Amino acid sequence: MIDSLLSNENKRFRDEVRRFANREIAPNVKTWEKEGKYPDSYYKKISEMGFMGLLVPEEYGGEGGSMIDLAILCEEMGRVGVSIPLTHVSACCRSIAHLGNEDQKKKYLPDMASGKKIGAYCQTEPNAGSDAGNMSSFAEEKETYYLLNGEKIFISNAKIASVLIVLAKTKIVPEKPSKGIAMFIVDSDTPGVSIGRSEKMMGRNCSSLDEIIFKDVQVPKENLLIPAGGKGFKEIMKEFNSERCGNSSFCVGFAQGAYERTLKHCKERVQFGKPIAQFQGISWTLAEMAIKIQAARLLVYDALFKEKRGKMIAKEASMAKKAANEMAVWVCDQAIQLHGGYGYSTEYEVERYYRDVRGWSMGGGTTQVCLNRIAYELLK
Ligand SMILES: Cc1cc2nc3c(=O)[nH]c(=O)nc-3n(C[C@H](O)[C@H](O)[C@H](O)COP(=O)(O)OP(=O)(O)OC[C@H]3O[C@@H](n4cnc5c(N)ncnc54)[C@H](O)[C@@H]3O)c2cc1C
Repeated sequence: MIDSLLSNENKRFRDEVRRFANREIAPNVKTWEKEGKYPDSYYKKISEMGFMGLLVPEEYGGEGGSMIDLAILCEEMGRVGVSIPLTHVSACCRSIAHLGNEDQKKKYLPDMASGKKIGAYCQTEPNAGSDAGNMSSFAEEKETYYLLNGEKIFISNAKIASVLIVLAKTKIVPEKPSKGIAMFIVDSDTPGVSIGRSEKMMGRNCSSLDEIIFKDVQVPKENLLIPAGGKGFKEIMKEFNSERCGNSSFCVGFAQGAYERTLKHCKERVQFGKPIAQFQGISWTLAEMAIKIQAARLLVYDALFKEKRGKMIAKEASMAKKAANEMAVWVCDQAIQLHGGYGYSTEYEVERYYRDVRGWSMGGGTTQVCLNRIAYELLK
């Protein structure tokens, strides 16, 4: 089904990513997890493959890829149990490419596309998670710069990022707080920017979630990406749809990888004199896994093909994310169960898929926030 929708170029890209993931990534993931980070060689390789600049237009040194390419990349990397820096590839590069002016694009995109500079997306605060409008980071307008103060938490890639896409208020609008939010590009080496504490996480041990503190940071006026008011916050949230689709595709990939490992194990593991896959109770679970993965994948591609035709996909992207997040947790949980005691051991890796995939229903808008969005779109 999906194959008949993809172009030959999409399929070539999928084969290329799959070969790369199987050859260069899969054999190393366990070691990297033990070491607690992706090595520099990982970033070098994914940059050389063009993944870091996948969504950056060719004129700024990127690959000029589409959201469908992003889905392919995320699914194939998820399948071997790793992630790429999604907020860099989508939220940061896409925000600058779509919302930035010519000077901003020329200044930032080439280095971000080549992987020389990594981006981090800074929205969440201690008292403003789902309720972004309640953020207290404030950028006070001065003559030639904005004076930024605030604190962001749970920021992916913060430690390795040079370019920060930061949301902060420039005015207080009591009747509609989100109308006060603007978006800035902040170089991480600007005086006053510092990394605070790192979260100790349940999974995703190769990456980090960190706090970033902004103390009297002078952000040049030319680094304002989207001013507050007007359609500002709506434009920002529109870019979030790409993040939601990438997130969903990672979950489809993680589930697909866990399912393939489980299918193999169930065909090989013999109990009561036959492979356990031959017990109906097991084969039905395998069938349920396959159905749920394909159903979530179709929701993702439904969103992506609508986006390709120029449609707003707030509802579709939220549906895909909610379905894919929950499906992947269920599939990875079943993968552990069908491996028996081996599934709970780190040797067979399905427990890592389970731990890693659990966090994806928080980043990019929680399950409940997605439900709110879907309901809003249905009822409006
Ligand atoms: C792996 C991971 C990566 C992340 N990466 C980034 C990043 O790069 N940049 C960044 O800015 N942030 C990032 N985050 C933060 C993430 O965006 C927030 O965790 C998320 O928005 C939820 O906010 P919160 O944690 O404050 O939860 P809260 O908003 O406090 O929510 C708590 C619970 O209440 C529910 N809830 C809240 N409001 C409602 C409502 N109106 N109706 C029903 N239920 C509701 C939520 O769904 C959730 O279940 C990341 C988080 C994780 C786990």
